[in-house]
Formats: sequence, structure tokens, C-alpha cells
Amino acid sequence: MLPLLQNKERKCIVKDSLGRTLHDLRISVTDQCNFRCPYCMPYKKIVKDSFLEKDEFLEISEITRIASLATQLGVKKIRLTGGEPLLRKDINALISMIQGIEGITDIALTTNGSLLANKADELKAAGLNRLTVSLDSLDEEIFSAMSGGFGAVKDVLQGITTAGKAGFKKIKINVVVEKNANESSILDLVDFFRGTPHILRFIEFMDVGTKNNWEATQVIPSTETYRKIHHKYPLVSLDANYPGEVASRYAFEDGKGEVGFISSISQPFCQDCSRLRLSPDGKLYACLFATEGMDVKSLLRSDISDIALFDCFKNFWMEREDRYSEKRFFDAPQIQRPKVEMYKIGG
Ligand code: SAM
Ligand code: SF4
Ligand code: SF4
Repeated sequence: MLPLLQNKERKCIVKDSLGRTLHDLRISVTDQCNFRCPYCMPYKKIVKDSFLEKDEFLEISEITRIASLATQLGVKKIRLTGGEPLLRKDINALISMIQGIEGITDIALTTNGSLLANKADELKAAGLNRLTVSLDSLDEEIFSAMSGGFGAVKDVLQGITTAGKAGFKKIKINVVVEKNANESSILDLVDFFRGTPHILRFIEFMDVGTKNNWEATQVIPSTETYRKIHHKYPLVSLDANYPGEVASRYAFEDGKGEVGFISSISQPFCQDCSRLRLSPDGKLYACLFATEGMDVKSLLRSDISDIALFDCFKNFWMEREDRYSEKRFFDAPQIQRPKVEMYKIGG
């Protein structure tokens, strides 16, 4: 199907203003979600008519064109996310199209797992390589508080089991850890997933968007979560799978699997950040905490050539100087500016 660019010479490794290269593209396919996790999309603060209209979404052919061009700048990995990506009806078709792009070596998808049991087989058949499932607790009451009252633990677990049978072997299980919310679930989750091929990843509660009432006092630093787990099941450090991996990896000393920690607050990893993000309405963002993105949809719909579009992407990356997390506690104006919401930009 591709390469789109006839001139192979244009394929290049670009560096941003801090010397970082581009490897990953995170594509948020929808701003809709069937959960209302208070740390992402708090029920009372989400205005119903603030969601995108049908004609505002990028078509899957447009997403594929963007992904193809991004490979010419070094992108090899694609993550599909949202909102809840499994709400998008053409998600399988999109995966198949991305799978056909020369240069893409890995397609992953992050889901809340509530709809996974019925979709795992078709996702695998479409060409999805890897799955991440979010699950903040095994306790129904705590789970419900963390999801805004939607979904059920048993459905997410069923989704993980079915996905395992469909061939997704090492599923990452994302757990947002928030003070006075789900600390008591940490060891329950470890007990449950230890000895399985799946990998728990504990994520510090982040100040994404402007609606989740984030305060630094609600963050449990990863060192604390690590200590809790290490005390019961000793851990040994593992090397990163690849440069720029966001999670620090640890293995259980007794060989019963692996856990990871994503510490955007206490140990920012901006210096290796190699990700671009595309929103469902076609804006390209260079940082999870960005205020504005580049309006790619308007460019796409203006009959722009691939070469001109490629140059826009290239310049966008080269001008990038984002390092929000590193400056979080030192740069008040940066922190106070508006930020795009997590469910619009994708996690
Ligand atoms: N709806 C899907 C899900 O929940 O897995 C995909 C989108 S969600 C925005 C992607 C990831 O971001 C999830 O693992 C979620 O737990 C995480 N997330 C959302 N808000 C967060 C926050 N404030 N701090 C840390 N992680 C967050
Ligand atoms: Fe939905 Fe995922 Fe955000 Fe929860 S974290 S509200 S499941 S998009
Ligand atoms: Fe990348 Fe921005 Fe997160 Fe830093 S704060 S790691 S630049 S997304």
C-alpha cells in the first residue's frame, strides 16, 4: 500500500529542539467513553454537548495517511487509545489499514476492558499486536468509585481472559494509583496477576487536563508503591525494553512475572519522550500536557500533497521543546495554562 512518498530520500530521522527522536504515534480514535473515571473525565464536569460531532472525526483513511507519513519521520509503533477506543465501530478496519503500512512494527491498544470480551478475537484477527487494559481495583466498590460508577470488575477480567485466549499473551494492566482511593488494591492486584504472563503497571495520578481536581498531595509516589510490593514479594530491576520506555520494569525475584511503574510526577521522563499524539478531530500534539495542537484535519482536507504534509510534520517535531513534567514544580505559568483533556488526546 505504501510508502506514500515517492521520494525515499525524504525518509529521515528528525530531532526536536532537545535532541529527541520520534518513535511512537498515539492515536486517540474517539473522545467518547462509557466510563467517567474522576481522574480523567469527571461526570459532573463533562458537558454533554462538548463531544465531537460525527463530521468532526477523522476518517480512518485520513488517520492511516497521517500514520504513513509519520513512519517517514521514524514512527514504528502506534498506540490506539481514546476515550474508549472499542466504542469506535470501525476500529478493526483501522487496525487492518495501519497493519498494512510499511515501517509499522507494532500496533497496541489501550482499553478500559469493559467491551473487550466480545471483541478480542476480531482485534487479533485485524492485526492488533498488543493490548493494555486499565483496571484500578479488584474490589467492585473501589472499582466503581474509580470508574465514575460504570462497568464491572468481572467484565474487565473476562475481557482479559478472553484476550489471553485470543492470543494476546503479555497484556499490560494499567493501574492509576490515587491516595485515599485505591491504595488498598495494590497488593490484591499483585496477588491476582503474579504468576500470570500479564504485567501490572502502576501509574502515578497525573495532572492531565483541567477537570480532575489534581493536587500533588493525592499522588502516591511510585517508590511507595514499589516498597509495598517489594516488602511482600521482593523485586529486582530489569533493563528497559527499548530507549524511552515510560515504565521502569521490575521482575519478581522468584520468577513469577513482572511489574512496572510509570512515574510522571516523581521521576519525569521528558528527556527520552519520543511520542506524538493525534486527537480524534485531527490535531497533532507534541505533549500530553499541551494546550494547542497542529490542525492536521484542515490540512488534509485542503488537498495538500504528501510531501508538503510531511514537511509540516517534520517542522512541527523539529520545533518541539515540550518538557512539562520536568518543569511541573518550577514553572507556575506553564502549569496554570489550559491543557487538553486526557480523554481527547489519549493516554
Ligand atoms: N479508555 C481507555 C482506558 O481507560 O484504558 C483508554 C484511554 S485512557 C485516557 C488511557 C490511560 O490513561 C488509562 O490507563 C488511564 O487509567 C490513564 N489515565 C487517565 N487519566 C489519568 C490520570 N489523571 N493520571 C494517570 N493516568 C491516567
Ligand atoms: Fe474513559 Fe479511559 Fe478516561 Fe476512564 S481513563 S474515563 S475509561 S477514557
Ligand atoms: Fe513527553 Fe510531555 Fe510527558 Fe514530558 S510531559 S514525557 S514531553 S508527554
